[in-house]
Amino acid sequence: LNRSLAEFGTTIFAEMSQLAAETGSINLGQGFPDTDGPAEVLEAARRAIAEGRGNQYPPGPGVPELRRAIAGHQRAAYGLDYDPEREVLVTAGATEAIAAALLGLLEPGDEVIALEPYYDSYAACIAMAGARRVPVTLRPDGDRFALDLDELRAAVTGRTRLILLNTPHNPTGTVLPREQLAAIAELCAQRELYAVTDEVYEHLVFDGGAHIPLATFPGMRERTVSISSAGKTFSVTGWKVGWVCASPELTAAVRAAKQFLTYVSSGPFQYAVAEALALPAEYYASFTADLQAKRDLLAAALADAGFGVMRTQGTYFITADIRPLGLPGAEGADGEAFCRALPHRAGVVAIPSQVFYDHREQGAPYVRFAFCKRPEVLTEAAGRLKALA
Ligand code: PMP
Ligand code: GLN
Repeated sequence: LNRSLAEFGTTIFAEMSQLAAETGSINLGQGFPDTDGPAEVLEAARRAIAEGRGNQYPPGPGVPELRRAIAGHQRAAYGLDYDPEREVLVTAGATEAIAAALLGLLEPGDEVIALEPYYDSYAACIAMAGARRVPVTLRPDGDRFALDLDELRAAVTGRTRLILLNTPHNPTGTVLPREQLAAIAELCAQRELYAVTDEVYEHLVFDGGAHIPLATFPGMRERTVSISSAGKTFSVTGWKVGWVCASPELTAAVRAAKQFLTYVSSGPFQYAVAEALALPAEYYASFTADLQAKRDLLAAALADAGFGVMRTQGTYFITADIRPLGLPGAEGADGEAFCRALPHRAGVVAIPSQVFYDHREQGAPYVRFAFCKRPEVLTEAAGRLKALA
């Protein structure tokens, strides 16, 4: 194994999903819904296959129908205009978009600032690009995790090439407020940084809030590679249809890397996602409301079971503090020990937050639970967790 990858081992998601299967546990670890996306979207994929659309290699930048639909979504949702020909690129999920953006933009020795805890592919892709990650830690502030702008500003050096920003944020469930996004935009302009924004949870902002893309701030459209995907928004995580919206120059840089990673992917699913993006606004409203109700169900259950529950403003996830449970030994304060024991003790799988940190001690008492599951599954998990205390 090459040296830049050796430190990363096996992704936690594979490991914990396997543990769930082996122990027959309820899997609240890896974030995927247990009900598939809207019937008409699934039907659109069947139709595309039957009609021979996308069964052979689609065009490198993605099928025109989907690129137009993505541009239409950015316009309708955020008032952002992208040229589907030169400023939109379809990728194999957001995962490939992130990898290709980093490989396409970074030089060896460049520094990348990312908000810690971070989604596990960030560190690995930064390493594959020969660059260096500079984590800025989101710290517990009351019942949520918050960014300290001064820490962010202090992390910028002469070698910083870009900020990799994820909001709504996995795993903490934090949504960065408008004022902080404005300050980040200003920082990028002042220090001439690019931004790569991971917006896969854009339609999962709760309590009446709304996602604000960094690209909507003055001067940021030209500096930002905006990334999203269909997996979360349409409950089809296995389809792996993602995309990039950016200036022609930045899109070309991402594409230069992407063409040699997968070249293309997901032919028929691209057509189906184009149809999904044409769903009316009510779809998004009911999708968000459904997940918000699931968040509320699991948050109440975790509190009832004795966890400290951090507030989730967006995403699929709740971060819980295990210390209030008062369990003896390592399981009482070390999320990793807790998560390894939990399937055996309670038949539930969660993810130890510390795997998302470079400063692992910062994440030690926290574990991440996914609530993108049917209510009866969450209720069953709640009963099992309650027995822990
Ligand atoms: N970014 C974040 C923050 C995620 O949680 C995930 C996981 N779904 C991804 C990217 C990857 O998205 P995709 O499945 O579209 O590759
Ligand atoms: N994004 C999902 C999560 O954070 C799944 C990621 C994966 O399986 N690689 O759980």
